[in-house]
Amino acid sequence: IPVEDFDLVIFGGTGDLARRKILPALFRRFQAGQMTPESRIVGAARSEMDSAGYRKDVRAALEEFLDKDRPKAEIDDFLERIDYVAVDATGDGGWDELSKLLRKGVTRAFYFSVAPSLFGALAERLHQHGCAGPKCRIVVEKPFGRDLHSARELNKTLRDHFSENQIYRIDHYLGKETVQNLMAVRFGNVLFEPLWNAHYVDHVQITVAESVGVDGRGAYYDKSGAMRDMVQNHLMQLLCLTAMEPPARFSPDAVRDEKLKVIRALEAVPPADIVRGQYVSKSKGESYLDQVEDPGSRTESFVAMKLQVSNWRWAGTPFYLRTGKRLKARHTEIAVIFKDAPHSIFGQSLGRHRNVLAIRLQPNEGMDLFVTIKEPGPGGMRLVDVPLDMTFADALGPDAADVPDAYERLIMDVIRGDQTLFMRGDEVEAAWAWTDPIIEGWEDTGDRPKTYEVDSTGPEEAAMLLHREGRRWREIA
Ligand code: NAD
Repeated sequence: IPVEDFDLVIFGGTGDLARRKILPALFRRFQAGQMTPESRIVGAARSEMDSAGYRKDVRAALEEFLDKDRPKAEIDDFLERIDYVAVDATGDGGWDELSKLLRKGVTRAFYFSVAPSLFGALAERLHQHGCAGPKCRIVVEKPFGRDLHSARELNKTLRDHFSENQIYRIDHYLGKETVQNLMAVRFGNVLFEPLWNAHYVDHVQITVAESVGVDGRGAYYDKSGAMRDMVQNHLMQLLCLTAMEPPARFSPDAVRDEKLKVIRALEAVPPADIVRGQYVSKSKGESYLDQVEDPGSRTESFVAMKLQVSNWRWAGTPFYLRTGKRLKARHTEIAVIFKDAPHSIFGQSLGRHRNVLAIRLQPNEGMDLFVTIKEPGPGGMRLVDVPLDMTFADALGPDAADVPDAYERLIMDVIRGDQTLFMRGDEVEAAWAWTDPIIEGWEDTGDRPKTYEVDSTGPEEAAMLLHREGRRWREIA
């Protein structure tokens, strides 16, 4: 179903994110017939070039970053909808041309895919040059600040020019099919919600493991670290969707109100419940410290922690979070580990069997619900845990294997004016208010992160975080 007519301007249209994610996502939506024939995309960046030059660039990006389904004729059609204007975010060059290109009366979206230091200047100039209007929206990329103070400043700057319902703060994890499916599973079934609490859930594990290191991005990453780069935003959002109360309806503020309550219910994390790590390798040039400028950097490339959501539903059920770079595999999942059955009629010798709902974000988006059944055969009552596999491709046919990229969904939501899967300003601030004391604590003590071998599962101490309570992390595979 086509969305309404739109003009989408990508500030930073020549940058890495635009080439790798935004433009391929737009092409896929174009292929799916969601762009009306009149809708237009305008690349806007610092480089001096004309629209023909930009189209060549976009073609190259599509050829590089779309793995399949890129027939030349369709790319040609798509490129016809694209223009380019050289615009300086901090000067006046290009703004008049941009303003002339924009059509009146259609939805306008401005995607800020530039360094966050330029967000304020862009917002201001959009207004000065008459590009903004009541039907316009801005899309803001991460990072949204680096602490509570800078996030507040940024919110203030943006709200000086746009109202909250025009600001779309992207966290692409929210655009993933499985993340939305988590809400469908929780609130569309009677099966799970009655068990979704401290009475039945032993603990929850949220893992975002990356196999890549910081190679090439060392300068940026070293100023940030896993806590700012991953936990404050992505893991926090996954935690919120897992722990939140059922919203009254699937509407932007109802969902975001519930998420905010989760962040506000988080207890401060004692230092003993958090482990920081930095990867090391025996091979030259492969260790974290080889890949950043500061040879004594204390920035963490890994963090694991035990969190407590202090409310009626979750009191006593820990949430364990971990994320890191250069781990043994790329693996992102939310796992809800249910408690043991209250009594085993099969005796003790059969071992422990627990129901687990594992929601996989990558690779192979899908869900597994582990249930205990009898092992087939005449060997007596032997129990085995098997997954009820809800891999989309198997359950819904081959078309479902073609899971749309998160950016496809999110950009179309911007055009539709649906903010449900975008972070509200107060949510971002609350997440920083929780994160800041942890980071400040590290800065005060000056402790070095623990080391962990590349291609491992992280520092030994992270495993201990669960072992000491008779639990263990799920496999990273
Ligand atoms: P990039 O350095 O590759 O591109 C920056 C873009 O900004 C270029 O198009 C450049 O021409 C433009 N630009 C720079 N100064 C300008 C000015 N004064 N006026 C107008 N345009 C100007 O950066 P990127 O990796 O594409 O990242 C863009 C944004 O997205 C950043 O906020 C980044 O944090 C965020 N982000 C990037 C990624 C990623 O994978 N690259 C992922 C998540 C978030």
